[in-house]
Amino acid sequence: MRLPHILLSLLLISATAGCIREDTATRSGAPAASAALPIPAGMAGNPAKLYFAARTTPSQQAPASYGSYAKGCQAGAVAMPETGPTWQAMRLSRNRNWGQPELVDYLQDLSRKAARIPGWNGIYVGDMSQPRGGPMSSGHASHQIGLDADVWLRPADNLGLSRAERESLSSIGTRRAGGAYVNDNWTPEHMALLKAAASDDRVARIFLFPGAKVWMCENATGNRDWLRKVRPWWGHYYHFHVRLSCPDGMAGCVDQAPPPPGDGCAEAREWVSNILNPPAPDPDAPPPKPRPELTLADLPRQCVSVLQDG
Ligand SMILES: [Zn+2]
Repeated sequence: MRLPHILLSLLLISATAGCIREDTATRSGAPAASAALPIPAGMAGNPAKLYFAARTTPSQQAPASYGSYAKGCQAGAVAMPETGPTWQAMRLSRNRNWGQPELVDYLQDLSRKAARIPGWNGIYVGDMSQPRGGPMSSGHASHQIGLDADVWLRPADNLGLSRAERESLSSIGTRRAGGAYVNDNWTPEHMALLKAAASDDRVARIFLFPGAKVWMCENATGNRDWLRKVRPWWGHYYHFHVRLSCPDGMAGCVDQAPPPPGDGCAEAREWVSNILNPPAPDPDAPPPKPRPELTLADLPRQCVSVLQDG
């Protein structure tokens, strides 16, 4: 039983790798998105998310991220295949398993590393981007340029989930005390996965709840350089969020400033202490402003071309 399974996995790996290369190669000769198209009058001023959600296939343009993680779009995206030997994409009905070729390669590499961790046979991949990126109707401010992905904290032990199971199965929560600490679902194997994820040069940042970062600060041995990229953030206890740097030579892609030097453990401890002992609200603070909806005019001009292609 074992050997045919391994052979099948190898076949699937080479088949999938072949597909992606072919896909990328096809599009690398494709035209780049134009920066010269005007915003159609009927779309001006309306939320851009309406238009991006309506495009269910990628543009047939050269792969590129335009703009920044929370204000942009993507051309020439490729799909994370729905199932591979060491991964499954979840919540397929959302059609958010799209990204730049670098992101799909990264996730497949990570899934193979995950498969070597005890109890994990790979990873469950949550939201990436919409086929053409852009703002989403729900769930995320970022994930707009095909370089962000959510990876579930639930060990991917069953890679034979049906489409329906991938809609209904939930991840597992790993926090307690509002994110100040990890709970019993958190294991050293989670740290092994985070370390593998953050040690990859393609990664800019990983977002995870502060209690888990502090747990890793206290338990990581050996080289600790990777901890710098794991940044505390709200939420992020059912999944962690990986953000890749702009790929080399992608002129229209806007990187975030790198994290400050050091392991970031002091900052994470400060987050924890603020959770446990919330600072008194500033009576003079202005009320929070609602985040305005992004319109096409807020996005790089190439996004008009990305949206209208094909
Ligand atoms: Zn995310």
